[in-house]
Amino acid sequence: MGNSDTALAGISEVDRAVPQKVDVVLIGAGFAGLYAHHKFREIGLAAFGFEAAPDIGGTWFWNRYPGARCDVESLDYTYSFSPELLDEWRWSERFATQPEILQYANFVADRFDLRREIAFDTRVTAAEYDEAANEWVVRTDRGDIVRSHYLVSAVGSLSLPKAPEITGLDKFAGRWVQTGAWPREPVDVAGKRVAVIGTGSSGIQSIPILAEQAAHLTVFQRTPNYSVPAHNGPVDAAYEAQVRADYAEHCRQNRRTKGGVPSRINTGLSAMEVSEEERRARFEQAWGFGTFSLQAVFRDITSNEQSNAAAAAFVHDKIRSAVKDPAIAEKLIPKTFPFGTKRLCLDTNYYATFNRDNVELVDIRETPIEGITRAGIRTTEREYPFDLIVFATGFDAITGPLLALNITGEGGRKLRDEWKDGPQSYLGLMIAGFPNLFTVNGPSSPSVLANMLQTIEHHVEWIADCIDHMEKNGLARVDADSDAQVAWAHEVANMAAKTLYTKADSWYMGANVPGKPRVFLMYIGGFDRYVDRCEAIVSEGYTGFRFTPVAGDSAPGQSSVVWTGAHSQGTRF
Ligand code: FAD
Ligand code: NAP
Repeated sequence: MGNSDTALAGISEVDRAVPQKVDVVLIGAGFAGLYAHHKFREIGLAAFGFEAAPDIGGTWFWNRYPGARCDVESLDYTYSFSPELLDEWRWSERFATQPEILQYANFVADRFDLRREIAFDTRVTAAEYDEAANEWVVRTDRGDIVRSHYLVSAVGSLSLPKAPEITGLDKFAGRWVQTGAWPREPVDVAGKRVAVIGTGSSGIQSIPILAEQAAHLTVFQRTPNYSVPAHNGPVDAAYEAQVRADYAEHCRQNRRTKGGVPSRINTGLSAMEVSEEERRARFEQAWGFGTFSLQAVFRDITSNEQSNAAAAAFVHDKIRSAVKDPAIAEKLIPKTFPFGTKRLCLDTNYYATFNRDNVELVDIRETPIEGITRAGIRTTEREYPFDLIVFATGFDAITGPLLALNITGEGGRKLRDEWKDGPQSYLGLMIAGFPNLFTVNGPSSPSVLANMLQTIEHHVEWIADCIDHMEKNGLARVDADSDAQVAWAHEVANMAAKTLYTKADSWYMGANVPGKPRVFLMYIGGFDRYVDRCEAIVSEGYTGFRFTPVAGDSAPGQSSVVWTGAHSQGTRF
């Protein structure tokens, strides 16, 4: 990581005790891992977790950059599994800040005592399926070796920041940081000459705030993005009262929507079946409402080219009216991909920030970055001196954190080889040839296309139910059927092909990481439809999954936890 400071800096060793054998090894302690710990405990499994960070929180532990907040409304970006929890927590803003969301994660962890079976500061470096024993053998960067009957990955979809891809960083005399691994201690921006590279959601959230603090801010933009105003503020009391009148039902309804959030102003119409006047009025209403409504107000914005062009033209006009300098406005207008086919950004004052005297926009398609120098950044046009460089360059999304686990399945097959042309997975829950391995929000599930607190709860509950089914029925092994997996992959690809999403060079397509296969990584048929499908598969007797009863030591219910003798001294292995 060169001279970058990360959130790990300055963390001291904590006492930790790691068992030799458990029912489940659970990797990750973000919202998915935390809920899985709770759920597995509820069904009587002994689970033990590893987390690379020194504490819980996942995304909200790592992404501490100025301006970081959710863009799904806080009232919906909330666990729904416990009515008491829904009652006990109050959000202060419509879109909560990173510190408040991290506080929430801590509140949940404390309330359900979720930290005690997690080894922090510990990265899983390999996991291998031992066929004879029907066990997973999990290894960490601290030398731990743990065997488990089941392995559950909750490693996150956006947890592996891309390494800075620009040469010369080792020569830079100033400081550099990444939005996705922001230091825990404050980063001094006041009075500094700051560069931001990247204009995705992280860049777009941080740029307005960095501009207020820095002496001078230079934004290096490769591709302009679509952003809509968040209209953040305190939670609307009347709306909150309406939601809280039956919060559990509100959350249940969210699971019956395409995006895991309420459809508050969606028309269900095609943008082309209304008059131009009505179309404009609906777009204005969506723009004024915030959230992702501009993308959802008509049903065909991301599938019909004309509807899409109308929405794009609407946003182009908004950018032109927000940015005083017409030349800068033109640079900020996305023209190379359809509206909404790269993750839409929600902002507070993003476009207006470019009206400030201390903010400069550098279009690196016109004047590419040649490299980082001792003083700053050199483009083909000139050298820019900086004290601080912020990389807001995104993540190796969805597959990156899973591949980093170095997983070896049945018959010695490596996940990395199996996925060399793109990920294969059945429902995003299991991978054929990797028995008893479950993936929360795995590739080809809706994951990042919906409210992720909902997709997490759904997957964790599905996995826990499946394991419970096995435990109760003497089934020791489950694997995805490879034909079912191929059929699912076709369905996922066909769904994506009917949309405009495949026309964008997005991280949804793996296009942001050099050399990554170009495959649409998610199921885009809608969270509601996906949930129905998963439920139908279970009620039909787990279609596409193969269960095997296996006799021997590793039969269900027999493993529980095995500690070595040193556990009592709190020694790690
Ligand atoms: P994560 O929170 O990513 O947690 C995964 C954990 O696994 C991490 O702590 C990581 O350190 C750990 N881990 C990974 N690999 C290993 C390993 N090999 N060994 C040990 N530990 C490992 N989603 C929404 O729905 N709404 C939003 O508004 C929203 N805002 C976001 C804002 C930002 C800045 C980002 C980056 C993402 C946002 N997301 C949002 C997506 C967000 O990632 C999910 O909502 C959610 O927090 C994911 O939880 P998770 O537990 O699945 O994964
Ligand atoms: P991102 O959307 O992938 O954006 C990365 C930006 O960096 C893009 O502008 C990209 O340009 C640029 N970039 C990447 N590599 C570069 C390079 N080598 N040189 C120059 N520029 C480069 O990443 P992100 O902003 O971190 O967001 C990722 C996802 O996290 C979001 O889409 C969202 O799902 C989630 N998120 C949500 C929020 C929220 O509002 N709640 C906030 C942050 C993140 P190109 O477009 O040309 O590749």
